[in-house]
Parts: sequence; C-alpha cells; structure tokens
Amino acid sequence: MPDTMHRIALARRPKGLPVPEDFAYESCEMPAPGEGEVLVAVTHLSLDPYMRGRMDDVKSYAPSVAIGGTMTGQGVGHVVASNAEGFAAGDLVTGITGWASHAVLPGTELRKLDPGTPPSAALGVLGMPGFTGWTGLREFADMKAGETLVVGAATGPVGSMVGQLARLAGLRTVAVAGGAEKCRLALETFGFDAAIDHRAHADASSLRAALAEVAPDGIDVYWENVGGKLLHAVLPLMNVHGRIPLCGTIAWYGGVEGDGTDHLPGLWRSILVKRLKVSGMIIFDHWDLYPQFLTEVGPKVAGGEIRYLEDIAEGLENAPAAFISMLQGGNVGKQVVAL
Ligand code: NDP
Repeated sequence: MPDTMHRIALARRPKGLPVPEDFAYESCEMPAPGEGEVLVAVTHLSLDPYMRGRMDDVKSYAPSVAIGGTMTGQGVGHVVASNAEGFAAGDLVTGITGWASHAVLPGTELRKLDPGTPPSAALGVLGMPGFTGWTGLREFADMKAGETLVVGAATGPVGSMVGQLARLAGLRTVAVAGGAEKCRLALETFGFDAAIDHRAHADASSLRAALAEVAPDGIDVYWENVGGKLLHAVLPLMNVHGRIPLCGTIAWYGGVEGDGTDHLPGLWRSILVKRLKVSGMIIFDHWDLYPQFLTEVGPKVAGGEIRYLEDIAEGLENAPAAFISMLQGGNVGKQVVAL
C-alpha cells in the first residue's frame, strides 16, 4: 500500500469555460478507513457536465466544491481495506470518490458491482447518465409511437440512451450532434432516423430550417440537453401540447455559447402559445427507480439492443484536460478517466 494518494483539487473558480489553471494535481497522505468505512482504489472516474456547475459558488441543487477541495465525481474501484460490514478487499464498488486515486467512504455510500460489470459502463450507459435518459422519458416525455423526438448531444450517454429508447418506442428520432463524424455515429451506431450537425449552422434560423426538413410533422418531444442556439431553433417547430424534459443546458455552462444571460425572455412566450409541458428534472429525485432501470435496460445493453460509446482518457492528471474538452464536444461517447 503506497503512503500517498493523488487528487485533483479546485484551485480557483473558473470564469466561463474552465482552463487548466483552475485545477491542481496534488499528492497527499493515504487516508485510513475508520469504523464503518472503506478505502477504495479508484480505477475509473466519470467526467460529467454537471461538474462545471459545482465549480461555481452559487446556490444550486447540490453544494459547490470549495476552493482547495477535491473535485466531486463518481468513481469505480476496488476495495483495498474495509471496516464496513458487507465489504471485503477486492470487491468492485462505485460511489462518489471525487477526482482522486483513492477515497475513504462509509460503506453505506458505496454500491457493490457485479465483478463482470465493465467499470466504465457502470458510470455511463448503466450508470447515472443512462438512468437519466430512461427516467426522463418515462416520467416526463409521454411518448407515443409515430411522434417525433429531437435530442442534442445525441451521441453522449444521455442523448444516445434517449434516442435509442425513443426509437424502440416507435418514435421518429432526430439527433443533433457536433460534426460529421458524430452525425454518422448517431445514424449508424444509435439508429437515429436523421442527424443534424449543429456546428454546420451559424445561427438558430439556419439550424431550424435543417430541422424542419427532417421533422416535417413538427416536434412532439424535445429532450433538452443543450439550450443555446438549438433551443432557439427547436421551439417554433414544437407541436401543440409538445413535451420538453429539461435535463441540461450545456451550451450555457460557460463553453462556446457563453453564460446564458438574457437568453430566456424571447423563448418564454413560445411555451404559452404551444401549451408546452416543460419538466425540469434532476436525477437525484428518482434513485428509487434505479433497480427497475437495471432490470429493464441491463439485458438490452447486454444483448446489444442498446449500444454505447466511451471515450477513455488515461491518468488522473489528464482529467482536467478531458473535462475541458468534453464541455466543448471533444468527447465521443461517455467521458471516463482510467487511472
Ligand atoms: P455528453 O457526454 O453528451 O457531453 C456533452 C456534449 O454536449 C458534448 O460532447 C457536445 O456534443 C455537447 N455540447 C457542448 N456544447 C454544446 C453546444 N454549445 N451546443 C450543442 N451541443 C453542445 O454529456 P452527457 O450525456 O453526460 O450529458 C448531457 C446533458 O445532460 C448535459 O447538459 C448534462 O448536464 C445533462 N445531465 C443532466 C442530468 C440531470 O439530472 N438533470 C443528469 C445527467 C446529465 P456535440 O459535440 O454533439 O455537440
């Protein structure tokens, strides 16, 4: 057992898109587990868009990371030492380890994984993002066969789950993704009926014209991952009584489209005119459904009916660069860091 562990701390609060100087790679003393606790050696770390919000000092649905604190996040790893009932050295587990090589967590906050589970899948297709897609469709989309669904960030773990489940439910599915290669993956790997490259359209009206062509009957369900230009493009194309599960607004997380200031007033009236049902969702509220998700979707993933892509960066020290890249669309599939 080494004496030291490594972690990525928040060095300062970013302005807009994070830069490498906002993070610090540090070594510190290896912690020892207390009563009821487990020491985990992390093998895979999840990088998720929500982490950008945790870097800001604003009141939100979850606490922000303190300056000097370890960046938050879910990891998968092996138990090294356990003082908690039900956990033994060698067990494969997942929990909120943070961006760190090792973590001490109460046994009550860890979940054991089947030793056969691909660790990175537990963070993506069968983890929080895949579960988000399944839950949001089930709870908020009211999908009907023959309707049209549009989703942005369509090759990521949330968007690809949404698109595939909607297709299986008999909807026409339209992907919006960044670049020709991601559009090809949306069509060929994930089976979308059409794919639009948002980067090929300078403004919302050009993007809207492209969407109108591939959604000739209008849009019934817009799964909101993005905000920004895509939201402006989509809203006028929504059918009366359309549904918008509002999952994320990554275009406004300080990346390429800025910080979201003053975007909403022009959009508000469309919700009235079309009598749209917009449902903000945070996956925290729905963890009681997780076993049902695994029962329903696990076999579809194992059988290849639901497919997934992963983008695996190597080394904890490279997590900040992979994260910054993901916020700008540099990832192809679920962004994971292998330690
Ligand atoms: P992804 O792996 O899909 O990564 C983010 C993707 O967003 C990028 O690859 C890029 O894809 C796209 N993107 C970035 N900037 C823009 C932009 N300006 N316009 C259009 N697309 C952009 O992420 P996830 O699947 O993990 O998450 C998708 C969304 O779901 C995020 O908004 C996230 O915050 C949200 N989320 C919300 C949860 C909740 O509980 N509400 C839970 C989990 C996720 P491309 O290159 O194709 O443009």
